[in-house]
Amino acid sequence: MNLVWFRNDLRLDDNPALYKACQQSDSVKAVFIATPAQWSSHHDAPVKLALMHAALQNLAGNLAQLGITFDLLEAETFDDCPQLLEVFCNHHGITRVWFNREYPLNEIKRDQQVIHLLQKSGIETFSQTSDLIVPEPLSNQQGEYYKVFTPWYKAWMKQVSSSPVRVLSSPKAVGPALKVKPIPIFGDQSAYRRDLWPADEEKAQQMLMDFIQKRSDHYDEHRDIPSINGTSTASPYLATGILSVRRCLFEIQQHCDLKGADWRENAWARELGWREFYRNLIIGFPKLSRGEPFKAETQAIVWEYDQSQINAWKNGLTGYPIIDAAMRQLQRTGWMHNRLRMLSASFFNKLMLHDWHIGETYFMENLIDGDFASNNGGWQWSASTGCDASPWFRIFNPTRQSEKFDPEGTFIRKMVPELSSLDNRHIHDPTPDQRERLAYPLPVLDYKSARERVLDRFKTCLKPG
Ligand SMILES: Cc1cc2nc3c(=O)[nH]c(=O)nc-3n(C[C@H](O)[C@H](O)[C@H](O)COP(=O)(O)OP(=O)(O)OC[C@H]3O[C@@H](n4cnc5c(N)ncnc54)[C@H](O)[C@@H]3O)c2cc1C
Repeated sequence: MNLVWFRNDLRLDDNPALYKACQQSDSVKAVFIATPAQWSSHHDAPVKLALMHAALQNLAGNLAQLGITFDLLEAETFDDCPQLLEVFCNHHGITRVWFNREYPLNEIKRDQQVIHLLQKSGIETFSQTSDLIVPEPLSNQQGEYYKVFTPWYKAWMKQVSSSPVRVLSSPKAVGPALKVKPIPIFGDQSAYRRDLWPADEEKAQQMLMDFIQKRSDHYDEHRDIPSINGTSTASPYLATGILSVRRCLFEIQQHCDLKGADWRENAWARELGWREFYRNLIIGFPKLSRGEPFKAETQAIVWEYDQSQINAWKNGLTGYPIIDAAMRQLQRTGWMHNRLRMLSASFFNKLMLHDWHIGETYFMENLIDGDFASNNGGWQWSASTGCDASPWFRIFNPTRQSEKFDPEGTFIRKMVPELSSLDNRHIHDPTPDQRERLAYPLPVLDYKSARERVLDRFKTCLKPG
């Protein structure tokens, strides 16, 4: 009997562990282990857990159609997983366990412990690659892991181009269809917007194809404008594995081929590259999973700490309309547009000079697409502590950025409705009178002096010797 252990790969499509387990035997079971205490220590957002729960319900139904029973097991932490699996395997006469690899440090340690214990009990384990397009992290001619995106991306593209991306179809049924058991609820479902983020694999695939066929040709032009639905919004599905990243690359390649375009020039494929680059970093540099900055010298930066400013940022009440619109989008939908993640992170760790770890945690606690590698990468990029990060003297001016990327204030009007009556000029920076009349706060900081303070702080703290 084969067992498939689902983790961040909640799908039938292009799922190597599932596919191979079904190819090898017609007697297959599936499990997922809920680990509430571990999730809480990783700061996984309730909305992300609710999406996972809904995806598991859909997955259990799809597996039942293939003749595969699904069980939801519960442990507190990853440490409890090996024994739980061993007991389950012994009870059900399972001799082989299949799973797809995960890359953050705690997940790697958990898997090592599972493999060790199961092998001691005579149970074979098979780990597969499903969350990376190129299975191993890339290294340069000196045998070192890359630290800069562009050379890494060139090497990655060379590898990807040398053999076509292969995606696996859903496996064939191993037996007659079964009745589906309801899955016990975990996590708090209240903030989850099912209308925005349906959890069915079929719907996620439709959303992907809709983006690729109808919107991807305008991606480069629309991707920075938060009021336009110009990006794929595939991130929640990639973070939970409802969608396969290889499927995403495969489909954009097919689309480019059909149009006679070169996929290697495609801006969306490049973003999938950023995702993979950050995964390569967490594999190559385990200190990232321990909360350390990539650049050790940035540990010398002295951060400010002002709880009232932090609260204003979290609640979308900084008095900077574009930042408040961004933070309210996160609260309302569980998702934030990439340009706004860059602006709100820069506002937090540059202009407010707060430790990026606090912002990183808050994002994880609220994002439906919370993904350790991409979130850590994004925050360290923004704080200039990461490898290939934004230079420390690059500080976004929120008002100028707002004028550039939301010129008519369309996005601000939607998310900060109290400002919707303002004209296109004042919507980015209302006058004190307008703020008072509309009950909108005064700015929590003065951009010019905040900019000088952060430049001075980085210069002083990063001084050699
Ligand atoms: C401070 C900060 C925190 C972030 N936290 C996360 C996070 O927790 N989870 C997450 O998935 N992304 C994170 N990102 C990256 C990016 O903002 C999101 O992936 C993107 O906004 C998701 O929207 P989309 O699916 O429409 O992206 P699209 O523009 O359609 O891109 C397609 C896919 O490529 C990947 N991708 C795109 N941009 C990036 C990027 N800059 N870095 C890594 N992968 C990327 C994502 O998987 C995305 O779904 C963060 C960025 C910043 C600056």
